[in-house]
This record gives sequence, C-alpha cells and structure tokens, in this order.
Amino acid sequence: MIRINENYNLLQGSYLFSEVNKRVKAYQEKNTGRKIIRLGIGDVTQPLSPSVIAGMKRGVEDMASAASFKGYGPDQGYDFLREAICDADFQSHGINIGSDEIFITTGAKEDTANIQELFAQDIRIAIPDPVYPVYVDSNVMAGRSGAFTDGRYRNFVYLDCNERNHFTPSLPSEPVDLIYLCFPNNPTGQVATKEELKKWVDYARKNRALILFDAAYEAFIRDPGIPHSIYEIEGAREVAIEFRSLSKTAGFTGTRCAYTMIPRDLMAWDAAGNPHSLNQFWFRRQSTKFNGTAYVIQRAAEQVFSSKGKEESRAIIDYYLGNAKLISEGIKSQGWNFSGGTNSPYIWFKTPDGLNSWEFFDRLLSECQVVGTPGAGFGKCGEGYFRLSSFGSRENVQEAMERILQVKF
Ligand code: PLP
Repeated sequence: MIRINENYNLLQGSYLFSEVNKRVKAYQEKNTGRKIIRLGIGDVTQPLSPSVIAGMKRGVEDMASAASFKGYGPDQGYDFLREAICDADFQSHGINIGSDEIFITTGAKEDTANIQELFAQDIRIAIPDPVYPVYVDSNVMAGRSGAFTDGRYRNFVYLDCNERNHFTPSLPSEPVDLIYLCFPNNPTGQVATKEELKKWVDYARKNRALILFDAAYEAFIRDPGIPHSIYEIEGAREVAIEFRSLSKTAGFTGTRCAYTMIPRDLMAWDAAGNPHSLNQFWFRRQSTKFNGTAYVIQRAAEQVFSSKGKEESRAIIDYYLGNAKLISEGIKSQGWNFSGGTNSPYIWFKTPDGLNSWEFFDRLLSECQVVGTPGAGFGKCGEGYFRLSSFGSRENVQEAMERILQVKF
C-alpha cells in the first residue's frame, strides 16, 4: 500500500496566496463593476531590462548553432555568471566571498525550502513570526514541527516580531541550532543594522548554530548604513548561508534565477562531533537532485551584473520604491502605524478599528476593490496587521491609494 508523508497533514490550511485568490475570485463572480487592483502578492510588473533581454537573446543564438550549443551545465552554475556575481555583489564591496562559494539556482524559494535537508531531524529551529511561510512549511513537511496548537508548532522556537521590538527579533531564550533571518524583511519591510546582525552572528558563533539569511530584497536598500549582506559582519562566514534572488532585483519572478552563498569555512557537525563542509554537502545535494538553471537564463542573468544592467535594474527598483513612498504616505495620512516602505518594497501596518487581518482584507476588497495580504497569513504575530506591496504599476498604486483614502475605516 502506498502511504503518504503524514507530515503534510500538519500543514495549515491552504497556502496564503491560494486563499487570497479564492476570496478575490468569489468576489469577482458576484461583482463585475470596478477593476480590482492587486497590491497583494509580491510579484513584479515591470518588464525585463534591455540588457537582460540582450543577454537572453545571446543565449538563444548560442543554442542555435552546434559550435556554441549547451546541454547540461555545470552543477554549481556557469563560471561566467558566478564570477560576475562574485565581483558585482561581493568583491567590489570588500566582501570576502569567492565564486566557488556561489551556487546558481532557479529561485530563493526553492533553496530556502530545500536547504533544511542538510540538517539532522532533531535540531531546534528558530523562526521569526511573522515570516515568509516557506521556512515554516518546508520544515513541517520534513517532520520537524510537532503538533500545531494555538497557532503554533510545538517544536519550533518562535521569535516574536511586533511593534514593541520594532519588528526585529530578539535572541532566543532557549538554545537553537538553526536560525532563519530575512532582511529587508518580508512581510514587515523592516531592515537590520550591522549591530543587529552582529548580535546574531555572535550568538551563532558562540552556540555553533547556523543562520539562514534571506537577502531576496537587498537591492531595495538605499540607506548607506544598512548592510546588504550578512558577510559584512565579521565572523559571518563561519555561521551563515545567504540567499539572493534576481526575482525582485531584476524582474526574474517568471524567468527564474537566484543564487545561494555557502562559504567554505561553514561547518555542521555529526553526532560524533566531526565537522562537515556545508558547501560540499550542498554541492552533493544539488548534483543529485538539480540539473541547473537554463543556459539562456544564466546568460540573461549575467547582464544584471554589467554596468548598464545594474543601472537599469536600479531604475526599476527606484520606480517600485516610488510606489512604496506613495503607499506609505497614504497609510500615514490615514493615521495607521506602519513599518517598511523605505529600503523595502513592503508596507506593513496595523489594521484600523480593531479589525482582524482577514476582516480588513474583506473590507478593502469590497469597499476599495484593492487586494492586499492579511498579516495573519504570515504567523500568529501577524494577526491584526496587513501588508501592501509596491510592485504594481504607478497608475494602479495611485488609484488604489486614492480609493483607500476616500473610505473612513
Ligand atoms: N524569500 C523571500 C523572503 C521572498 O519574499 C520571496 C518571494 O516572494 C522569495 C524568497 C522567493 O524568491 P524566488 O522568486 O527567488 O523564489
């Protein structure tokens, strides 16, 4: 008899965005009037830049002739892309990361979900709340969560993020082995200072813990004092894996290209106390289960790191940051407390009038025909909060904010 992985039964409800889509569909079926504006899911709307398209075309041309055709690529990604990343993102900023420490992948979602396979079943995991749901669900599927009661899994150590701590988690009060951090944060839009990150790096070094640092939104950082990489912190090479993605940096949500940094110094230990290289473990995992990102896409991605490509991506991100400013100003004039909106594409605010997250979602949909994301979908601490994203077109963001400002909540 074929039996299922019963851990899947522990997953909560449908995935957040499926529920959002279900409610929007149900509303649309009953109401065919005003256009619905989506400021919910973090998907981009602006096209790929001219440099990226040129890189992609070059990749296509290469595939058209026997002399330059490419079949299976190198397991870790092509040298041309890893070297371009290494130089543009790390070496030119004085950060010590080598191209052999960079793994090209199709998405940060895939890698942040899959990385947990490298670790023992009984490790203690610290997860911020609210959080990008993939970190939680991938560990639930792997059987590390224990039962779900009162909005939380028994075996996870939750790091509460709320207004009191400015949505920045405190160190755990009990020992943990694996820590998920994401800055600029999805969903709260919060960023971390060097001092904040140092606190975590020091903790991890002292406790032989590992930090999984999700930097999917680093390109939105404009404040020169805010670190883009955890490797800007001394000692982080010994204790952190960093995930970056071209999804939001260069509009690759549908094109799919991301990269994960695993320094050679990074170790995890077996039960006998022997150290093992996580770089080698991940290489082994990827070469068994993953056959690489398409050559054409890696050629497109290479151009993101060219000087023209960097300028073009920056202009697109500036456009989204302009949207974020408009949203923040609107939220502020409603008198709602919010975080994010600068150095981040997300605006996270407290729902008015004591409405819970889904009640506010329904009101925003029915009264303004605007779709956002209920904070409760990101964890227990997200209840009573709401996320708007700045990835829409300028016209849509303007119209959505005009509609919101006309309603007295
Ligand atoms: N990490 C965070 C925090 C995200 O918000 C997202 C997407 O929304 C991802 C990773 C996924 O990125 P990718 O498109 O590279 O899979």
